[in-house]
Amino acid sequence: MSRFSKALIALLIVLGLAYYWLLVNAGPAGIAPRQIDLAALRAEAERMPGEKPSGIAFATLATRRVPSAALAAGTGLRQITTGIIAWQIATPKGGIVVDSGLTAADAEALGYSAYDAGAMRVVDGWMDGAAQIVFTHAHIDHVGRFLDHPRFDAIASKALITPGMLGGINALWRENGSHITSTRNLAPIEAIAPGVVVMQTPGHTPASQMIYVRLASGREYILTGDTASVAANFENGTPRSRLVADILAPEDRPAVIGWVKGLKALRQRYPALVMLPSHDADWLAVNAAKLGLRGPVRQGAKPAN
Ligand SMILES: [Zn+2]
Repeated sequence: MSRFSKALIALLIVLGLAYYWLLVNAGPAGIAPRQIDLAALRAEAERMPGEKPSGIAFATLATRRVPSAALAAGTGLRQITTGIIAWQIATPKGGIVVDSGLTAADAEALGYSAYDAGAMRVVDGWMDGAAQIVFTHAHIDHVGRFLDHPRFDAIASKALITPGMLGGINALWRENGSHITSTRNLAPIEAIAPGVVVMQTPGHTPASQMIYVRLASGREYILTGDTASVAANFENGTPRSRLVADILAPEDRPAVIGWVKGLKALRQRYPALVMLPSHDADWLAVNAAKLGLRGPVRQGAKPAN
């Protein structure tokens, strides 16, 4: 074998190992699923008396094509469309916004295109009218537009920000972030409205949360935030790739693996419970209508309440 052939084979082995490690490996192995207690979430959702939400709407503010394996290790190089999504839980008192989207400039900086300024104005209106604004975590694609909202001072006091989240917000160096003076500690699971419960799920960030919703109709949802960015995370119990989770956007990988395994176990036990991944535009396009979701909401569409 020529020296060139040996070098070529060595290079291919290195590339193969790098591919496996960075985009396929879903380990470390042996991490136990984190228990997600649906009975406790249901009980907490009933604790606050009053009318439960009537539905959930979402808006897709920008999209981007990425290899599937980037967001769900081992799922291959097929390109999927991911989106920046904002959610509105329709409550009798103005609604609860979950995650705010971000500005056009921030979307572009993150490699997103097809920015929908009209949809962003709709979400701005959701925040104007909302009773509460909550976040799955304090990354720019989830809190950015809240911090850059054109009427920030009028909406700021409606945001439920935990002390752990404030560190993430401050790291974004937004002028308005420094105007946030009050934070609120939440219990591991805590109702914030009838039928709406925030669950602490540290891992993707130290202050990551999921939102459990039980509608007046009885239908149940969990907004998973970036613990499950795409449906494959909770379908397979698979985290993001190491390329993303260890290098590009570091997180507590063992914790996230525990949570996605916990979500997988939960949906096997309760198939009617709907999990909503934070960035899976392809999955939402296929499933939104049959899951009772309204959206993607665009400018000019009828408001939810
Ligand atoms: Zn995100």
